[in-house]
Amino acid sequence: MLVRILGSAAGGGFPQWNCACPNCRAQRAGTFRGKARTQAQVAINGDGQSWFLLGASPDLRAQIEATPELRPRAASGENARQSPISGVVLLNADLDHVLGLLLLRELQPLRVHATKSVHRILTKDNSIFAMLQRVPNQVAWIEFMPGAQFPLLNPAGEDCGLRCRPLPLGSHFPAYVSPPRRSQLAPLEASMGLFLESSSGKRLAYMPAVPRLETLLLKQLDSCDVLLFDGTFWSEDELIRVQGSGQTAYDMGHVPVSFAGGSLARLAEVKHPRKIYIHINNTNPMLNEAGPEHAQVREAGWDIAEDGWQFEI
Ligand SMILES: [Zn+2]
Repeated sequence: MLVRILGSAAGGGFPQWNCACPNCRAQRAGTFRGKARTQAQVAINGDGQSWFLLGASPDLRAQIEATPELRPRAASGENARQSPISGVVLLNADLDHVLGLLLLRELQPLRVHATKSVHRILTKDNSIFAMLQRVPNQVAWIEFMPGAQFPLLNPAGEDCGLRCRPLPLGSHFPAYVSPPRRSQLAPLEASMGLFLESSSGKRLAYMPAVPRLETLLLKQLDSCDVLLFDGTFWSEDELIRVQGSGQTAYDMGHVPVSFAGGSLARLAEVKHPRKIYIHINNTNPMLNEAGPEHAQVREAGWDIAEDGWQFEI
């Protein structure tokens, strides 16, 4: 399985358009020791041919253009419109995770996997997503059940050698979902982590939004070869300190990296996988390669994802 990290930041990217936190300010001034990052986006490939997107970020157009493997292959006469991207797996209905779908609207055949609740939110209440279904062979929506494994197929229906098992992690739907619609949705279908398995049995976990760390989850993570884990916030009150008000990391569905109950301490017992933080908010001090937080994470054996990384599992 090939894994490509197209974007490694949380919503807003780094720097974020309206943010003058110390990180964003220094990044714009050219004095920051660390890279700018686009919004979280991962692509995987199990057969050397078909790529699948995990989510669809608002930065997707630029992320695809920055990745030669995802560009259209040489055109043969009449068929100049084509893409090696076969499908998308949606973990939730957050704007940072679904807006990129609208950038894929050019009548391209795609299979989009989502829970029934996420599918309903996007297509029943938001008519703009009808742009994905203007012709019969455009986007095929495929609903999955939390916990139930499913194969990733290309638009022709051929198996691409990857299995996906979604794990329900959070029960909060985005703020734009109306109360009447919310009352009809299944909380277990709100936010997923994904386990992806190749035909040779190698496993990737993609967990960009983890609201709490339970022992059972830690055991499952330990069975993976690579873990891409929620690195959104360093501390619980990080956004409140930057903005002067707002929600805690836990309120927003993210276990912070630091402190006693944080992921750095709790996942110390997860020994098997290569551990990589992803979905890193622009306020997170571990982005600063000259800072003690960055050193602490690296000394604990973690990597901090950067845009453009690719590895094979
Ligand atoms: Zn910032």
